[in-house]
Amino acid sequence: MALIVQKFGGTSVGSIERIEQVAEKVQKFRENGDDIVVVVSAMSGETNRLIGLAKQISEQPVPRELDVMVSTGEQVTIALLAMALIKRGVPAVSYTGNQVRILTDSSFTKARILQIDDQRLRADLKAGRVVVVAGFQGVDEHGNITTLGRGGSDTTGVALAAALKADECQIYTDVDGVYTTDPRVVPKAQRLDKITFEEMLEMASLGSKVLQIRSVEFAGKYNVPLRVLHSFQEGPGTLITTDEEESMEQPIISGIAFNRDEAKLTIRGVPDNPGVAFKILGPISAANIEVDMIVQNIAHDNTTDFTFTVHRNDYLSAMRVLENTAREIGAREVIGDTDIAKVSIVGVGMRSHAGVASRMFEALAKEGINIQMISTSEIKVSVVIEEKYLELAVRALHTAFELDAPARQGE
Ligand code: ASP
Ligand code: MG
Repeated sequence: MALIVQKFGGTSVGSIERIEQVAEKVQKFRENGDDIVVVVSAMSGETNRLIGLAKQISEQPVPRELDVMVSTGEQVTIALLAMALIKRGVPAVSYTGNQVRILTDSSFTKARILQIDDQRLRADLKAGRVVVVAGFQGVDEHGNITTLGRGGSDTTGVALAAALKADECQIYTDVDGVYTTDPRVVPKAQRLDKITFEEMLEMASLGSKVLQIRSVEFAGKYNVPLRVLHSFQEGPGTLITTDEEESMEQPIISGIAFNRDEAKLTIRGVPDNPGVAFKILGPISAANIEVDMIVQNIAHDNTTDFTFTVHRNDYLSAMRVLENTAREIGAREVIGDTDIAKVSIVGVGMRSHAGVASRMFEALAKEGINIQMISTSEIKVSVVIEEKYLELAVRALHTAFELDAPARQGE
């Protein structure tokens, strides 16, 4: 008998019909003898609708009151699901985050979980009840309702699994697992049976949107086996787990991630003195702008060029800051480019293989794709390229690293 935490996202509980289907699914697990804690999101679109209401009152709603309101989305779905289970003869009880006592800090709209009281849940499980918990919400030490940030129900699921030492946390969603890359870009992308927390974290922070990043961090930290599955299709999904013994079959690269969220800024002809990088990036971080990739060239004629990327939303403000800096330090010019994309190959397998980066560069060269910036870490190589080549690059890399699904018979 296992203890399983099952989280169902907004589309999986998006209508009464779907909630009934989820209840049926939970019932089956229950009949197998497993103890089940279910975490649900609000019905799809509901959180946005609620935020929309608040914005009609004020462009910047008071965060505490916003949380009081948006947390109601999940309060509706827990009750509906509990009703649907009880109707089927499955004893069930629903709780808000406050009722469980999912204690968070007081950062409204982006609270962090501090502690979970598992007493009540354990008593219900012992009495044979399915426990249905509202995702995305908690309560602070003063009794204020808090929410965990968009997509936060994943984190609730993982945190409950960690607190209850569950055997597995299953995240049910509208895809049947984690893929080697976005199947809309590469039709030959394959579902991964397994991926490590580290790899998943890279994939998620690089734009693969299957799981909320924070939930993956949490699962890794507490070593909660996490499985992504399709809500209404049968299948094993993808298991996210710790890095196991490297096996013979372990691929060098597990996946290819990409995003179009960044923009590039270059400051040219910077006098090459100690402290110059700080003079350039200090004001950027003081303006609360996060920098991703950084490249500084070898000096030539006592000046250097310095390039970095920021989120595209921050491009204009970063440009203004950098132009000021350029005047102050006597740099020649500032240029920028928003038509860029970042493509990354990710895999724990690359730790032990030399030549992964060169294989990547070769594949891009063959397609005539120019690399503008490069950065590497232990399990990732990222390049910045011109945005219009993004899809071509991802496809070429998918093939070069032998990630393409084998052709099916008749193809
Ligand atoms: N309902 C919340 C949202 O839409 C939390 C979640 O779905 O995970 O962001
Ligand atoms: Mg969601």
